[in-house]
Amino acid sequence: MSRSIRDLPDATERWSEISEQLAGRRPAIFLDFDGTLAPIVEDPDAATLPDLTRAALQRLRDHCPVTVMSGRDAEDVRDRVGIDGLVYAGSHGFDVIWPDGRRRQRGVEFQDSLRAAEVQLHQEIADIPGAALEPKRFAVALHYRRVPGHRVPDTEAAITRVVERFDDLRLTGGKQVFELRPDLDWDKGRALAWLLAELGLDGGDAVPVYLGDDLTDEDAFAALRAHGAGIAVVVQGEDDARTTLGGYRVRDVPAAARLLVRLAETLDPDA
Ligand SMILES: [Mg+2]
Repeated sequence: MSRSIRDLPDATERWSEISEQLAGRRPAIFLDFDGTLAPIVEDPDAATLPDLTRAALQRLRDHCPVTVMSGRDAEDVRDRVGIDGLVYAGSHGFDVIWPDGRRRQRGVEFQDSLRAAEVQLHQEIADIPGAALEPKRFAVALHYRRVPGHRVPDTEAAITRVVERFDDLRLTGGKQVFELRPDLDWDKGRALAWLLAELGLDGGDAVPVYLGDDLTDEDAFAALRAHGAGIAVVVQGEDDARTTLGGYRVRDVPAAARLLVRLAETLDPDA
C-alpha cells in the first residue's frame, strides 16, 4: 500500500518503535547519497558529505554492514563518502565495490549502445537550453533542472526518440533527470535483495534499514516489503505529496543525519 509522504509517521517521533524492531536482530543499513546523505546542490559535482554524517557512518560501520546505493558511478560515490569498510553500490546497483575491493558489475555488454545513444542524444538536445548530458559508466543521464519549463516536453521527446532506436536500453528517471539504462531487470531493489543474500542477511533475524529520497529508492522500499521486514525511511525534501512505499519519513537531509546518529547510539551504546 502506498501513501503520500506527508501521511507517513515521522521516524524521529517514532524512534522507540524503530529501536524495538532493531532489538536483538541483525541490522543492515542502506543509504542513498544525493538528497539523503548529501544535500542536493545545483552542481552535482559539488555534493559533499557533512562531517556529522561521516562520523555517524564510521560508528555504524563497526556494528553492521553499511551500503551506500547511488545512481552515481561507484568510484564517484566511494570517493565522495571516503570511508573504508562500506559497500559502495553505484549505478543504481549495477556496479558494486565491496570493502575488500572485490567488484561485481552488471551490464558491461551494454557499453556500445550506451555510448552510441549518448552521441545521438547530444545531437538531439543541441537546441534545448539548460539540458545537460552526463555520461555514466552504466547509464546516460539527461538533467533538465535548468531547462525552461516549456522546453521540458521537448527534452523528454528527444530522449524518447533516442531510446526507441535501441532495443537493449530503457528510459527511466528521477528528480529532474531522465536516464537511459541497460534494459536489464536490475534496480536498487534487486540489488538490495542480492546484497542481503551476499551478506548472509536474508534470514528472519535481519532487519534492513533503507533511507532514500528519490523515485529510484522506491524499488528498494518495495524489496524491503517483499523481504517481509525492514525499515524504509523517506527523506522528504520539498515534494511531500508524492506517493511512496516508505514506512516513515524524515523532514530533510539534516534530520536524516540526526537519525543516523541515533541509530549509531542505539547500536553502539558504549561509545
Ligand atoms: Mg537521492
